[in-house]
Amino acid sequence: MAPLPDLGRPPDIPQQAIADAQALLASGRLHRYAEAGGDGGPVAALEREFAALIGCRYAVAVNSCGSALFLALKAADLRPGDPVLMNAFTLTPVPGAIDHIGAQPVLVEITEDLTIDFDDLRAKARSSGARVLMLSHMRGHLCDLDALSQICAEDGLTLIEDCAHTLGASWAGRSAGSFGRVGCFSFQSGKHVNTGEGGVLVTDDPDIAARAILHSGSYMLYGQHGTVPPDAVMARWRGRCGNYSLRMSALVATLARPQLPLLPARVADWNASHDRIAARLGECPHFRLPHRPEPEAYAQSSLQFQLTEFDPPRIAAFVARARDRGLWVKWFGTETAEGYNSNPAQWPGAHVSEVPRAFALQQRLCDIRLPLRLSAAQCDDIAETLIAATDAVAQGQGGHARA
Ligand SMILES: *Cc1c(COP(=O)(O)O)cnc(C)c1O
Repeated sequence: MAPLPDLGRPPDIPQQAIADAQALLASGRLHRYAEAGGDGGPVAALEREFAALIGCRYAVAVNSCGSALFLALKAADLRPGDPVLMNAFTLTPVPGAIDHIGAQPVLVEITEDLTIDFDDLRAKARSSGARVLMLSHMRGHLCDLDALSQICAEDGLTLIEDCAHTLGASWAGRSAGSFGRVGCFSFQSGKHVNTGEGGVLVTDDPDIAARAILHSGSYMLYGQHGTVPPDAVMARWRGRCGNYSLRMSALVATLARPQLPLLPARVADWNASHDRIAARLGECPHFRLPHRPEPEAYAQSSLQFQLTEFDPPRIAAFVARARDRGLWVKWFGTETAEGYNSNPAQWPGAHVSEVPRAFALQQRLCDIRLPLRLSAAQCDDIAETLIAATDAVAQGQGGHARA
């Protein structure tokens, strides 16, 4: 078997982006605004392109998805101590945004298919009195977004979507991020568009867009944004929104823009690798893969599987064995935080006792990242390496956990 590929390889920066970035650097105009007036440059252009891509009226470019999530909570008028519902399967930036605003996370169970559990959502919405659901489409798994929209309408919940893993994904033909009052996207290198750091908030609501623009730190040069709410709306919020300096730089927007038209090809590439590896793992009884419903069009840059028959020491042995063979497998049940942090027991303010089923499920859940441009042979090698590692552990050859 040839050496296995580096699963952590980020998406390439296109030549056009490199050329545009060099021209921008030569000009020195790296800040998004120009005091003497201007058209907003690459950041404003990105906002227009991104709003059109998702199908929303407004896009506000910021420095990270975590900042977008924080601004979304701010614009929902959350006060310190207010409860915020969130699915227990996500990454630290989501509970981090809730912590940032001083609110209280209320964890909601997930299903075997890694999406939010609607019964538990309804029960917790009533018992907590929360007005906001911050839903993470974690690892690209979309719940039935039509059914969820109905629940949110009936129970008076404002939906904020964390779309860090669903740029290019849709439910029944409608883009993820356009179902909620606000959608938040990430350009961090591990996501679908790679600029190192960066985020975008999308919304149809002019008041939320106005508040996000002003809070992000627009120095009253908000007229230079790509999608600007009407003057009367801006006037309503001027002088009432603190400046948090969460702006996107022109360099980031310059790196992002040429990547947007590449998304359909990237998504097709990721999904082809995902589907090939998933099909092979699905033939092996050790692996349980999430069911993908028909209306979901995913953009799967990673692959998740449960090892339902293995206890935590055996999963640790499996992970160690796969890593020894050159495959960087992640395990959501690690006792100590390790490079990433998806274990709700490790989030400040979260009560893992609220979600016993999600906690038990994550004890048996692993995943791998999928770089772009894997060959069919590389996909097969990845699948066989994972299967061989489970076989060895099942036969008691796993050795001791070294995770
Ligand atoms: C990466 C990520 C984020 C936040 O992205 P940043 O741009 O790094 O703040 C949010 N949610 C999930 C699930 C993520 O993986």
